[in-house]
Amino acid sequence: MSPTADYDAVVIGAGFAGLYMVYRLREDGFRVLGVEAGDGVGGTWYWNRYPGARCDSESMYYSFSFLPELEQEWPLEERYPTQPVILRYLRTVAQRLGLPKHFVFGARADSVRWNDEAGWWTVRAGDRLAVTARYVITATGALSASNRPQFAGASLFEGEQYSTASWPDGPVPLASKRAGLIGTGSSGVQVLPELARQAQSVTVFQRTAQFVTPARQERLDPRLVALWKANYQEIRRRTKWTAGGIPIPSPIRSAAELSAAERTALCEEAWRRGGIWFLDGTFSDAVTSLEANAVVAGFVRAKIGEIVTDPDTAEKLKPWTHAWGTKRVPVGSDYYETYNRPNVSLVDLRQDPIEEITPRGIRTRSGEHPLDVIVYATGFDALTGSIERLNVEGRDGERLEDAWAGGPRTYLGLMVPGFPNLFTITGPGSPGVVTNVPVAIEQHVEWIAGLLGYAREHGHKTAEAEPGAADEWTAHVQDVASATLYPTADSWYMGANIPGKPRVFLPYIGGLDVYRRRCDEIAAAGYPGIGMGTPAGTLGAPAAAEAGHGAG
Ligand SMILES: Cc1cc2nc3c(=O)[nH]c(=O)nc-3n(C[C@H](O)[C@H](O)[C@H](O)COP(=O)(O)OP(=O)(O)OC[C@H]3O[C@@H](n4cnc5c(N)ncnc54)[C@H](O)[C@@H]3O)c2cc1C
Repeated sequence: MSPTADYDAVVIGAGFAGLYMVYRLREDGFRVLGVEAGDGVGGTWYWNRYPGARCDSESMYYSFSFLPELEQEWPLEERYPTQPVILRYLRTVAQRLGLPKHFVFGARADSVRWNDEAGWWTVRAGDRLAVTARYVITATGALSASNRPQFAGASLFEGEQYSTASWPDGPVPLASKRAGLIGTGSSGVQVLPELARQAQSVTVFQRTAQFVTPARQERLDPRLVALWKANYQEIRRRTKWTAGGIPIPSPIRSAAELSAAERTALCEEAWRRGGIWFLDGTFSDAVTSLEANAVVAGFVRAKIGEIVTDPDTAEKLKPWTHAWGTKRVPVGSDYYETYNRPNVSLVDLRQDPIEEITPRGIRTRSGEHPLDVIVYATGFDALTGSIERLNVEGRDGERLEDAWAGGPRTYLGLMVPGFPNLFTITGPGSPGVVTNVPVAIEQHVEWIAGLLGYAREHGHKTAEAEPGAADEWTAHVQDVASATLYPTADSWYMGANIPGKPRVFLPYIGGLDVYRRRCDEIAAAGYPGIGMGTPAGTLGAPAAAEAGHGAG
């Protein structure tokens, strides 16, 4: 019988967040166990292996900032890193830091239960794992719980079905096959040009037309890379204090301050540069003013009309259902151009909805589309999905799912009242998913590690968000969003892609810099808003017996 929990902390997930969290806690002298559903590290980049998968953050910024030697060695070859490159990077990080030995792989945590008597959590993963830990930290990914709509007849389809979010590791032969692609969010936009190159034909089933920004992928000039590397740490320092985790200048002028010719010239220049330069580079009020937004939206629609040669297809591709930027803007390479290929066709599901999947293809209202392969690029149950799927039960057996039935309630996106010693990296109410995510992850991990160190130093066994603090933060997250056009869209930011999910704005869009300052102030003030204490029966409960058996 053990008087203490098996581990000080269990970290669930082995992507950027889980790797760094395990590393930090180990370095700080905590006994830590990582639990990962996949067979290896990488998270997003382990699962999303579809052709064309890549990051929209530029190579230079999409990495850890705390490994100065590796950042000098690591080759930066293309403007945007591809999935294989990022997976290789994360494997390299894990190996160098000796992290894999701290993880149990192939273990999907499916029960996380608080024991108030003992003051620890029991984490289970089917019959693979049952351990106790003082702290549980979810590093399960804001975009990792994949969403696959249930179409009638899907199980009867006689061809192959793939999801971009769990693409097979190995070749998927597509030549001479008729492919159907469902979904035109970021993953659909990336995979389409590759499918079109490889398959005999592709039929795209589009529910929502998107404002796709050109990526402008290119080889990086080695002289530029050398310059970056010479200044890397200074650039990283500045990056931490940006709103979005990328150090590009924010636009200072509103659309109203500019003439029509100046607006067009500015949009043209941002479009030419592509990626983040268009997303964050037009007007200061692009997502707060309807007038400014209409300028950007009109500009993109005009581009679609210029690029896509078939007028009917171009019209279907023009978005009218939401304001520009209020759904995550996909960044694509040759996305609109791909519709000019003779082997690509588009079905607008708003006019011609899917009725069922048949053994031979997809039947929409207008008829059957014969297919050999169906690719689902249907997104994620964002921010809350991967946490709720853990089946977390907190104090008094309260289920997290129930606690969040009306929408997630968190303190700083990191802690939940009623769920002591639970931390949620990039959880709802965190800015993570609207930033260059590794920068936000580092902030979260360092703040959590700081709090755990503080609690240890002061002899506190529990740390729990106070209800008032969580209510105040949760309201603040909504207030900040309400000052923008974001909540007007049926987006995954609003939970609108998941039937029955409460309609609240999920991420914090007040800026990573503002958020970081707030978190720093809270830490410096001794963590107001967080109750710390010692639960009644901290010592004495039989951890191993209760949990059944240990790791591995
Ligand atoms: C296609 C795609 C493109 C993206 N592009 C960008 C981009 O351009 N820029 C950017 O900043 N971000 C991008 N993101 C977001 C990306 O998720 C983050 O940048 C980053 O990888 C998140 O790391 P993470 O460790 O928080 O989560 P993840 O990488 O999602 O890792 C979470 C891990 O937790 C594991 N897990 C989940 N539930 C359980 C469970 N119950 N038990 C055990 N293990 C579990 C998962 O298997 C996964 O390995 C993209 C995401 C996707 C899906």
